[in-house]
Amino acid sequence: MTDFQATRAMFDLPDGVTYLDGNSLGPLPAAAPERMARAMRGEWGEMLITGWNKAGWMDQPARLGDRIGRLIGAPEGTTVLGDTLSIKVHQALAAALALRPERRVILSDSGNFPSDLYMAQGLVEQLGRGHELRVVAPEEVEAAIDEDVAVTMITEVDYRTGRRHDMPALIAKAHAAGALAIWDLAHSAGAVDVDVAAADTDFAVGCTYKFLNGGPGAPAFIHVAPRLIDEVQPALSGWLGHADPFAFEPGYRPGPAIARMRVGTPPVLAMAALETALDIWDGVDMTDLRAASLALGDRFIAGVEAACPELELATPREHAQRGSQVSFRHPQGYAVMQALIAQGVIGDFRAPDILRFGITPLYLSEGDIDRAVDVLAAILRDKSWDRPEFHARAAVT
Ligand SMILES: *Cc1c(COP(=O)(O)O)cnc(C)c1O
Repeated sequence: MTDFQATRAMFDLPDGVTYLDGNSLGPLPAAAPERMARAMRGEWGEMLITGWNKAGWMDQPARLGDRIGRLIGAPEGTTVLGDTLSIKVHQALAAALALRPERRVILSDSGNFPSDLYMAQGLVEQLGRGHELRVVAPEEVEAAIDEDVAVTMITEVDYRTGRRHDMPALIAKAHAAGALAIWDLAHSAGAVDVDVAAADTDFAVGCTYKFLNGGPGAPAFIHVAPRLIDEVQPALSGWLGHADPFAFEPGYRPGPAIARMRVGTPPVLAMAALETALDIWDGVDMTDLRAASLALGDRFIAGVEAACPELELATPREHAQRGSQVSFRHPQGYAVMQALIAQGVIGDFRAPDILRFGITPLYLSEGDIDRAVDVLAAILRDKSWDRPEFHARAAVT
């Protein structure tokens, strides 16, 4: 059994803060500052260029990729780190389209995060071969999979509502139609009991700064099914994805297996911070995490619905259709969230009217959930959210 009291003690959260935004940026692992100092002074400072070999910097993307792989059900050697999630979406999509040259449709849904759709739009333009990005409502994805579809590009958990797709069913449908499947696990990795091997996805991508707690700007990951990886011709053919980077050959040859999805120099310092988060994850069983997340989510929904009748639940109640966040709608959602944050209960807001709360058992207890409900109810009761300072919009919501 996972000891969630022990994991709570491994994070450094400010006093007086109830943090319900781990779905957007996970908190600081308590061991990270010391590990970062060691990476800077002991490795960069002392070892200088020799750190690439001596401190194992060059192997970090594969080593940490395998540790993330365990959390998403990916076999060893099929997941690698680097770049941002938007870049990993581009890589997966370019590879998938090249594997289905006779097809023209990329199928996605309107619940997808805009960057994924933007990356697809940019790639379609760049290829100039008449591809079409077809965006349907989330509940219409299954029916929209037909033999024109080259690839489905779906984010498992909706960033606004927390609605979770039936990933195995949609992948089976895609494969039956001869299409490939890319799954974005931005709100799944470290959040739900996803199993990419059992679901038989072709590609999976995700970020590490949300539920995985890797820190702001921590690198993204990509997983490619072992049955496909040797066929993948990387579109971003950088030197560190080359079969022999230090041969400095004039021509590109893809590296072995998942190593070919690397592009350039890895962000060594950011990965040192991520490593401390993965040390915590090593003690976590994803089945336990999922059960704890659903229990806390149920508690939050019940509490808010009992105390705040003016809020409307935007997240599916049914466990199978829920990720690890709970969202409510309120016409003045932005101001309500600012008033909450001013009281130390931190969630976030997504236009036009969504209050988002990340449910993260690694560092949230039932007491934290109850406190968040109490503060939210008090703010709505006394209408303190309507003060002018809570209506002023900052750049990041
Ligand atoms: C958070 C998120 C992103 C962000 O991409 P970055 O390149 O890391 O900024 C992309 N896609 C989805 C689905 C996300 O949830």
